Amino acid sequence: MKNDLQIAKEIELKPITEIAEQLNISDEIECYGKYKAKIDLSVMNSEKENGKLILVTAISPTKAGEGKTTMTVGLGQGFYHVGKQSVIALREPSLGPVMGLKGGAAGGGYSQVLPMEDLNLHFTGDIHAITTANNAICALLDNHIYQGNECNVDPTKIVFKRCLDLNDRTLRDITIGQGSHVNGIERKDGFNITVASEIMAILCLATSLEDLKQRIGNIIVAYTPEDQPVFVKDLKIQGAITMLLKDALKPNLVQTCEHTPAIVHGGPFANIAHGCNSIIATKTALKLGEYVVTEAGFGADLGAEKFLNIKCREGNLTPDCVVIVATIRALKMHGGVEYDNLKEENVEALAKGVENLAKHIDSIQQFNLPYVVAINQFTHDTEAELNFLKTWCEDNNHPCEIANVWLNGGAGAKELANRVIELIENNNQTFGHLYNREDKLEDKILTIAQKVYGARDVIYTEQAQAQLETIKELGYEDFLVCMAKTPVSLSDDPKVLGRPTDFDITIREIRISAGAGFIVCLTGNVLTMPGLPKQPAALKMDVTPEGECVGLF
Ligand code: ADP
Ligand code: MG
Repeated sequence: MKNDLQIAKEIELKPITEIAEQLNISDEIECYGKYKAKIDLSVMNSEKENGKLILVTAISPTKAGEGKTTMTVGLGQGFYHVGKQSVIALREPSLGPVMGLKGGAAGGGYSQVLPMEDLNLHFTGDIHAITTANNAICALLDNHIYQGNECNVDPTKIVFKRCLDLNDRTLRDITIGQGSHVNGIERKDGFNITVASEIMAILCLATSLEDLKQRIGNIIVAYTPEDQPVFVKDLKIQGAITMLLKDALKPNLVQTCEHTPAIVHGGPFANIAHGCNSIIATKTALKLGEYVVTEAGFGADLGAEKFLNIKCREGNLTPDCVVIVATIRALKMHGGVEYDNLKEENVEALAKGVENLAKHIDSIQQFNLPYVVAINQFTHDTEAELNFLKTWCEDNNHPCEIANVWLNGGAGAKELANRVIELIENNNQTFGHLYNREDKLEDKILTIAQKVYGARDVIYTEQAQAQLETIKELGYEDFLVCMAKTPVSLSDDPKVLGRPTDFDITIREIRISAGAGFIVCLTGNVLTMPGLPKQPAALKMDVTPEGECVGLF
């Protein structure tokens, strides 16, 4: 069987100008080579009516893979097979997982976004711009202290870290400014991965250049000895930092395997950040597509919760339907099967693991949204297993469709596309967030833990408790909540699969992202700078003398 990269290479791409012409935006694009273009922000603000918004989410991920991106692309392509027009809106992959665990992250099989090499590597440079903007703040802050420290920054109370878009555990805790005095003030520092940085979050939540500038100005970089916050605007550099991001703020246009339009922009992780592509990209897609399909990262407890409670609120977006992706393989793992035994039929384990799906469906129901379970079919799934899952859905009144988009592209998603259209047309529910901005912070956190994770209670460490008090004193009680939690379990313990009950969520640390407008609650052992595995995906990668990529899949 061909791998993703081989399939991608066989497809003859259309010039991006042709895709733009289809969308009637030939004058609103700026080409980055032949197959990529930036879309002008004016498109998002046009008078055109918005299309329908479909969110793709999934069960808790396992090593067996779920295929949300693959399903998003497949469904986007699928709409054209039933006579409808669509645009998909995705995140840009981070080099951390590409070089580490996953290889590529642009979909799979005959449901991919192209050119996949560009997308997985440096693309249009947005992530580099974000990294540079972030690190410019750090350099200017350290210089500010060195040059006299007019803002009275306490060097032991700096909270804004440097960043890099790689998995590099050695950079988590470092010392900078070592050596003589001319090298600056010696102090402890650290790096986050770029896709967990506040600048990435801000770029994805901003609705204009002015909004971007204001949010950057509001970032807290440090505190004074008296614990007063020092903001980016105190350093008077919000203009310069926004300037570094002026092109990165524009969404990128590419195409799918079937030459349908795809917008790829922004890429916060869903475990340690808010996990959605940019509001600007989604709003632009809504002006260009009759149906817009977008993905939020990891399971519905992470990406979808934050999509619905954070992104939709900040962007004033109302989703029309949710697609919950499940695979027989992953559900069997949730039911206790080891990865190496997944090819064997096991309806009993499936029946146990389906509880994980049940919890994610329950969470989506609480937002009053229509949904459909999309079974992402793998070649090893047996008739009995597929029948079990379909019957389980029918018995519990959950709309469900099997989609084989990996093998068949858009043609594999015809039934799913029709089902989504039908659900949207017959929807009479009213979407609502799970908590109100005005609720007490502890209540907002408890709501997420109980209603979405199924937890009993929330426990705060002493450090987290003190940080919560600081947040209240600073007047940020109305901030939204961005949970940072392991994706593999509904609980904060990665070893507990399925549908755990009788557990508490422990909050270890709370950070303030005042520019983004949320607090980040770190649970369990989750880290904002990942490490590489023993056998990184990079070991299989190469480039030929002709410049062809090998091993990106
Ligand atoms: P997610 O977005 O949920 O992380 P992806 O769509 O990126 O998942 O898929 C992860 C990997 O699994 C990709 O390499 C993709 O090619 C593969 N994959 C997805 N669906 C299928 C399928 N039905 N059959 C075979 N491989 C698949
Ligand atoms: Mg994905």
